[in-house]
Amino acid sequence: MLCLFPLSRLAMNTESADRNARHTARMARKKSLIDAAIDAATDERGLLLVITGNGKGKSTSAFGTMARALGHGMKIGVVQFIKSRTDTGEEAFLGSQPGVEWHVTGDGFTWDTQNREQDIATAGRGWAIAARMLTDPSFNLVVLDELTYLLNDGYLDRDAVLDALAGRPPMQHVIVTGRAASGALIELADTVSIIADEKHAFRAGVKAQPGIDL
Ligand code: ATP
Ligand code: MG
Repeated sequence: MLCLFPLSRLAMNTESADRNARHTARMARKKSLIDAAIDAATDERGLLLVITGNGKGKSTSAFGTMARALGHGMKIGVVQFIKSRTDTGEEAFLGSQPGVEWHVTGDGFTWDTQNREQDIATAGRGWAIAARMLTDPSFNLVVLDELTYLLNDGYLDRDAVLDALAGRPPMQHVIVTGRAASGALIELADTVSIIADEKHAFRAGVKAQPGIDL
């Protein structure tokens, strides 16, 4: 029945005490489930992360993780495929940190270069650097930024790339970024995030902003 009068203070206190008790019981159940899941996760090994999707935040997620790894004193290799610019904030800041080896190996997007043979040769040079890192256990983390495009366009031998990723040193972490990650890459990965494109300032006419986009 609809109550037309304000609840008495006693009724309000009782309701709030009930609510608090239900919350405490719910949180206790949740905590025991989460604690059990944490206790069950006992493996320690190098992980393959794939950050894909059409939304903004793939490379910056990789570089954020890289900052976290640097905080642990890790040695990190970065290969930026496709992109040719060397004036980005991430390279200026992260590339100059001790323990970081940073390579920008691209010539630009295919619609800029308009030269498939050149793109394939450039991809091969970039991949040679990445392949070397993927056999060197002294690298704790390897970031392969925009690698997916080279796999999807057939500029690199897909099986060779997947084999190199699968056969890397067991404790080495790898992050692959780029749109449209293939099913085989997703299958091989341990952690996959697909960033959705809900809105982007570029479509409202805003040019790439230093500190946000480069
Ligand atoms: P970021 O480096 O900012 O994390 P990203 O790696 O997710 O972006 P890329 O496709 O590599 O995305 O594009 C890099 C550049 O393109 C960035 O300047 C980014 O802001 C911009 N960009 C990313 N997604 C979009 C989008 N959906 N529409 C327009 N511009 C985008
Ligand atoms: Mg990117």
